[in-house]
Parts: sequence; structure tokens; C-alpha cells
Amino acid sequence: MILACKHCDTLVRVSSLGEHQRAICPCCKNEIVSYQANQQQWLIAFSLTSLLFLLSSLYPSFVSFSQHGLVQKISLWQAFNLLADKYSIVLSGIFMFSTFLIPLLVCLLVILTNSHYWKDLNPHNARYLARLLNKTKTLNLADIFLVAVLVSVFKLMSLADIGFGLGFWAYILFVVCFIETLSLINETELWERQQMLFQPTLLHDGKSAKAQDLKQCLTCSQLTRETHCPRCYTKTHFRKPNSSQRAIIWMVTAAIFLIPANLLPIMNTINLGNDTPATIFSGVVVMWQSGSYPVAILIFLASVCIPVIKAGALFYLILQSRRCTHPKRASTIYRWLEIMGKWSMIDVFVVIILVSLVQLGTVLSVEPQIGIVFFTIMVLCQIVAVNSFDPRILWDKFHNHE
Ligand SMILES: [Zn+2]
Ligand SMILES: [Zn+2]
Repeated sequence: MILACKHCDTLVRVSSLGEHQRAICPCCKNEIVSYQANQQQWLIAFSLTSLLFLLSSLYPSFVSFSQHGLVQKISLWQAFNLLADKYSIVLSGIFMFSTFLIPLLVCLLVILTNSHYWKDLNPHNARYLARLLNKTKTLNLADIFLVAVLVSVFKLMSLADIGFGLGFWAYILFVVCFIETLSLINETELWERQQMLFQPTLLHDGKSAKAQDLKQCLTCSQLTRETHCPRCYTKTHFRKPNSSQRAIIWMVTAAIFLIPANLLPIMNTINLGNDTPATIFSGVVVMWQSGSYPVAILIFLASVCIPVIKAGALFYLILQSRRCTHPKRASTIYRWLEIMGKWSMIDVFVVIILVSLVQLGTVLSVEPQIGIVFFTIMVLCQIVAVNSFDPRILWDKFHNHE
């Protein structure tokens, strides 16, 4: 079977893979496909386990904390409700969506697509479900949420006594199983089982797909010469249209929001009647002074360094796509940009968690401030910027000279 690399457009011939084997693009070293023995059974096992742990993390107490004789226990479900009542239903919806509903949907889709029913499902529904799985699995933020919970605990340690409930331990086990589930999903194989294989004629591996007039569908990886993918019906392009221009526009918008995001306070802690507004940077300084060095470094990297590094790296990639002197290095940088993307969301979750968990009135409570809105918009603009950039343009000149 011949597949195209998503990062450099090179056609790679993949013969049948053995257990724990991966096919790597010879050009840019990106992983093309991996194989695990009994993949379907493992997928069902891991997604079922994830589902069980996720559901059991909802009602039991998640964390408890006490200060001056006041004890508060809160479950995830109560946190969703409290956010909706006290602030806005939109904020609560986003929180619930990213930490609970998306993983739930992904687990259900994985179970369905790997069960016996998948083969017999009518192609129209199967196409819809496979596309939904492709879109939702990239929206996973459960792992970031868990790290944010730990950061929040470190922030609160000096103010109150913290205890973890059953819900918290169930959520940890869920994240571990869920990450394994995501790493096992193999979409090409999923389409194969639906008997939707369309191998175009006259393929030569080692050359770029574009040189052979082939477009790769970005949803299902199908190669085609048509305007729409024959497998999932998505519109196809040789390259994402105006990818550099769109990436620049989103990055500049993000840079503008970066200024108020760093200058304005992101939250306000009320401790025994005293207000302490905190910006991102002052939060890092407080953590450092209280001796939580690893957490201070983590937040400094995720919230201050990564946004700046991302902007610089993306501009470098856009320049590289014109010059094309080091396509391999540029591809590696792009892969890092993709991985780093969601880690800047840690601070957003920390504020949401503190706001929804810490409600002991004037004794101890946390309120969100306008800075966190600017910060969230900035992070989202950067994620869109990286996604709108097409890494294959880094290799176009290189392929043309071959
Ligand atoms: Zn490649
Ligand atoms: Zn497709």
C-alpha cells in the first residue's frame, strides 16, 4: 500500500507491518502509520476502561480542602454546576466539553468503530462517524486538565489543607487509559474495514504526491485526483489555500492579545477578606518564592515562554517555506509546534479549577479576572495559526529540485 506523508507529501510504500512496528517517512522522519497486534481488541479494552473510570470520576468527591474549620468537598459534577450558576453557562459548557464530553464521545466512537457492527454499518453513517472521530480526537484536553489540577493544588497548599477524593484518582486512571486509546487509533485501518479503499493508479513511491497530480485528503489520508475525497467527501486541495497568509494573520492577532493577557490580572484571590489580584507573571513569582520551583518553571514555560517561542518559530517556518534551505529542520520544528499547542491552556484550566473549587466565601475564594479571557483568545489564535499552516509547503522547492 502507498501512503502520503502528511508533513512532506512524499509517497511511501508501506508493506505489512509486524507487531509494535511503525512506518517512518524516509524524507522528514514523521510517523506515517503504526501497528500493534490485536489492535482492535486493545482499543476496545482501553476505551471501555477509560469510559468506566471517566464516569466514576463524576460524582464522588474530587478534592476537599479545609481552612479554619471550614471543610469543602467538591465533585466534578458540582464544579460544572457551580460555574454555570455563579458565572456563565458558556464557561461551564466549555469546561465540561473539554474535560468530560469530548473524551466520552471519543471512547464511544472507538468502541463502535472497532466492534462487529462497524462492517455492517451503512456507508453514509460510517463516513459521518469516522469524520467525527477524526475531528474530536484532536480536541482532547483531559491530560492538560489533570496537570492543571496538580498545579492548582500546589497553589492552594499554602492557604488550605488539601485532600484528594475517589473522583480524582478515577480521573488519573482515566487519563492514562485514554492517552493509550488515542495512541492506538489507526484511521486507515478503520476505513479499510468499511471496504472503502480507493488506490489511484500510477503511483511512484519516493516522489511527492503533488508531482503526480495527487491530492491527499486531510481528514482520512486518501490519495485522489478528484476535487472531493472519494472516501469521506471532504473537499481536497494540493496544499491548504493561502496557508502562510492565514497563519500570519492569526499569529499577529495572537500577538496583539498577548499584551493585555500579560498585563492584566487573570484572577483575584480573596483570603480572610484581603483581595490579591494576580497576573500570569506575578503568579509565577509567588510560586517561586513559596518554594514550588518545578510548578513555577512549568507555568513560566507554558504561559510565558511557549507563546513567544511559538510566534518566533512560526515566522521562521513561513520564511523557510520561501527559501527552503533546511526542510528537515523546519519539519521537526513544526512537529514540536503541534505538540506544544495545547500546553499553554494549563493556566486557563488552573483559573477555571480554582474558581469552581475554592468557594469558602470571604474566608477563601477565587474570582476570574478579564486577563484570562485575553489569554484564552491568544492561545486559541495561536493554535489556529499553527493548524492553518501547511507543513508540506516547506518541502515543495526541495521536491521540485529532485
Ligand atoms: Zn515526510
Ligand atoms: Zn477523505
